[in-house]
Amino acid sequence: MGRNRRRRAHNKEIKDRKLVIDDKKKADIDEDNEEVDVNRKLNGIEDESKPLLSDSKTILDKIKTLPNATTKTSQDQTSEASISPEPCLIGPSQVSGSKPQSQHRDYYLHYLCQVCKIIPEVDQKVNCAKCKLVTYCSTEHKRQHWPAHADVCQILADLFKSKNFKNSTPDDFRKIRVDIIEKSEQAIERPLEKFEKEMVLYFNRCFKCYEQADGLLKSCKDCKHVSFCKDHRLNEDHEKHCSSLSVYRDIVLHIIGDDLVSIYFPDTFSQKFKEVDMKTLCSKETDSELESAFLSELATSPLSVLQALKIAFGSYEKVPKKLCVHVIGAENDFELSAIEKWEIFLAHYLQCSEILIVFIGPELYHQGPTQSLSCEECEAWGKHIIAKFHAHTLYHDYVQGANYVKPDLVCSFNPGFYRSTGFNKEDTWEKTIVQILHQNVPVLVTAYTEIEIIKDVERIQQTSKLKLLQAPSINMFSSLKPFLSFVNDEVSPVIFKNHYYTVFKKK
Ligand SMILES: [Zn+2]
Ligand SMILES: [Zn+2]
Ligand SMILES: [Zn+2]
Ligand SMILES: [Zn+2]
Ligand SMILES: [Zn+2]
Repeated sequence: MGRNRRRRAHNKEIKDRKLVIDDKKKADIDEDNEEVDVNRKLNGIEDESKPLLSDSKTILDKIKTLPNATTKTSQDQTSEASISPEPCLIGPSQVSGSKPQSQHRDYYLHYLCQVCKIIPEVDQKVNCAKCKLVTYCSTEHKRQHWPAHADVCQILADLFKSKNFKNSTPDDFRKIRVDIIEKSEQAIERPLEKFEKEMVLYFNRCFKCYEQADGLLKSCKDCKHVSFCKDHRLNEDHEKHCSSLSVYRDIVLHIIGDDLVSIYFPDTFSQKFKEVDMKTLCSKETDSELESAFLSELATSPLSVLQALKIAFGSYEKVPKKLCVHVIGAENDFELSAIEKWEIFLAHYLQCSEILIVFIGPELYHQGPTQSLSCEECEAWGKHIIAKFHAHTLYHDYVQGANYVKPDLVCSFNPGFYRSTGFNKEDTWEKTIVQILHQNVPVLVTAYTEIEIIKDVERIQQTSKLKLLQAPSINMFSSLKPFLSFVNDEVSPVIFKNHYYTVFKKK
């Protein structure tokens, strides 16, 4: 009885605490976006898009016929009932009341004034007359922006004039845009700013034929992001992405406005968790799509692990009581941000006495000591949740080192194994893949896109035959936080972390 009362009090207290995603974190998230978008593409546009589109078709058809691995069984319902859910507090380190100093970069969305970021009224809208890429709400803001825009404007105008991309194939259109970025950088002898690259990648045009003439284009009433000419109309394909494009704009406006996004971690998460998809889950916990997007970005990795454990062991009850999970290629800004999420979204739902999560990665810079993630309640229930960090460390070095602990599950989130430029432009994945397989335990891999997850699996299969416990498919616990991407933009203008996943074992 006493215990119950205390727990309720706990819950009440939690309601007053919230997690604040500060500007620093938002800026960091933005860095990932950049990595996905431009670097990757500039490093080899051909081998990433063209052959894939045709290859993936047949595999995708197979995927569609696979049974949904996350369908709930009656067995799971009993296991759910026997779990005692415990609420947890969010550490005070996550709560921040003061507004952090602005340090964001500039952004470009073709329909926003480049200076004040409002959507101009149609009759007030002014475009840059030369390059025609930039929008302003007034001649005043156009004048104001000119000093920053002058050096790149003429060269972009010339390059756009020299390229005939109307009615070109999506692949050619991608190559032309990458070429314009490269040529303009050579001409002005400086790298383009990120928002300038966005001008080239995401300028206003018909989504279908790439018609660019402003007078011939109409934009989607809702998102304003996608335009069409008189010969083409938006269809249901666009409806799938329309609201994500609006969320993307909200994210940009929040970053630019230095606004804070407040997110509550669900206080009794495991009671509520019923394996509904991320959208349903997050919409119950937040007040807006924007908040949902941020919450999902935190929840996606722990929930994907939870799902992978069920696939790997058959049910949550069969997960080892002493569980060790390796998170490979971990980064501070994704896997480690609001680290309590691992307790809230993963540990609370498992009946384990000890959960050790080992974060390993060359880009990880948190070299902290072993950290306990258990809340008081967890400790009272004899549940120990521990995080270990191996910063600046490649996985194959960790495995051969003195601190190695044998895992029950290995995971890697959005690693891009297929890329030969792993870390520091070197192909470090090869040795890592060998060591991952050598663990001889289930492996969870996620990716932004269908094409990438299939390529990742193909690369790992070059090292060993695999038993696919879950063939590549859409992850119901995908992040909902959109990033613009031109990698496959004829299919989707936005991408999401952990959108696709697969679970496999060495055969
Ligand atoms: Zn303006
Ligand atoms: Zn211009
Ligand atoms: Zn068109
Ligand atoms: Zn739209
Ligand atoms: Zn706890």
